[in-house]
Amino acid sequence: MARIVMKFGGTSVANLDRIRHVAQRVKREVDIGNEVAVVVSAMSGTTNQLVDWVRGISVLHDAREYDVVVASGEQVTAGLTALALQELGLSARSWLGWQVPVMTDGVHGKARIEEIQTADLIARFAQGQIPVLAGFQGLGPDNRITTLGRGGSDTSAVALAAALNADRCDIFTDVDGVYTTDPRIVAKARKLHRITYEEMLEMASQGAKVLQTRSVELAMKHRVRLQVLSSFEDLPGTLVVDEDEIMEQELVSGIAYSRDEAKITLRQVADRPGVAAGIFGPLAEASVNVDMIVQNISADGKTTDMTFTVARTDLDRAVKILEEARSTLDYVALTADPTVAKISVIGVGMRSHAGVARKMFEVLGQKRINIQVISTSEIKVSVLIAEEYTELALRALHSAYGLDAS
Ligand code: ASP
Ligand code: MG
Repeated sequence: MARIVMKFGGTSVANLDRIRHVAQRVKREVDIGNEVAVVVSAMSGTTNQLVDWVRGISVLHDAREYDVVVASGEQVTAGLTALALQELGLSARSWLGWQVPVMTDGVHGKARIEEIQTADLIARFAQGQIPVLAGFQGLGPDNRITTLGRGGSDTSAVALAAALNADRCDIFTDVDGVYTTDPRIVAKARKLHRITYEEMLEMASQGAKVLQTRSVELAMKHRVRLQVLSSFEDLPGTLVVDEDEIMEQELVSGIAYSRDEAKITLRQVADRPGVAAGIFGPLAEASVNVDMIVQNISADGKTTDMTFTVARTDLDRAVKILEEARSTLDYVALTADPTVAKISVIGVGMRSHAGVARKMFEVLGQKRINIQVISTSEIKVSVLIAEEYTELALRALHSAYGLDAS
């Protein structure tokens, strides 16, 4: 017998037929003797609608009331899923965040789970009952409903799996696993059978939007074995596991891309102590996240160029902040370019092997793709290129690292 948490995303519970299908899928696990807890998202599209309604009434809305409204989508699917399970003759009960309770901090709209009290759930398990948890929601210290940020029901599921000491956390979604790269762009992309937490974190935060990044962090911290799989097809998915569970580590496991960034260059900034703080301080204060940064050495010993990237959605704000600070920063020109893409080659194997970055630069050079910015970490090399070369770069790199399906 195994204890598993099964999480179903918005497309998996998008209508009554799909909810019935979810119940059948859960029944299969129960029938083979497993203890199952279910976590559900809202029906796809519902949360967007709820957010629109909140904004329609109040642009600068009160975050507590936002949470009351947007958490409601999961209440509906939790109840319907419990009913669908009951229709199959199973014992099932829905649980809202406050009923468990799923205790969070007080950051309404993107709260963090602090503790899940599982005593009641475990007592129900013993009676053969299936708990169905409304994902995405919890209870704050102010005794009010909180939500965990968009995509947060993945995090609910992982946190529940950790609290229940589950053997596995299955995330059922509309893709059948994690791919070496986006299969819509590279037809020869392959499904990965296994990937490490660290690689998945890089893939998730580099734009492969399969799992909420925070859920992967939590799984890594608590060593929860995660599986991403399709709720529509009966195929094994991708297991996200610890590094030592993977025997033969590929040098490169995947290639991610993001079109969500924009590049800013400040020309001829004074080259003296405190300048970087002068640029990035006001951006941080305005909650503008900066990703890649390059600063050149100064040829004349007096000025230098500074290039960095911000989220494309923050570009206008970032430019405005920097223009306002122009007199103190003392730069000669500011250029902003939203037409860039970041391509990242990811793999834990590169910790112990050289040459991954060189190959990336060679391949891009051969395709005459200019690299604008480079950044690296232990398990990742990222480059910024002109957006129009995204597809070409992905395909060429995918082949060059031997990732193409045969
Ligand atoms: N329904 C919420 C959202 O769309 C949470 C989730 O689906 O993970 O963000
Ligand atoms: Mg999701």
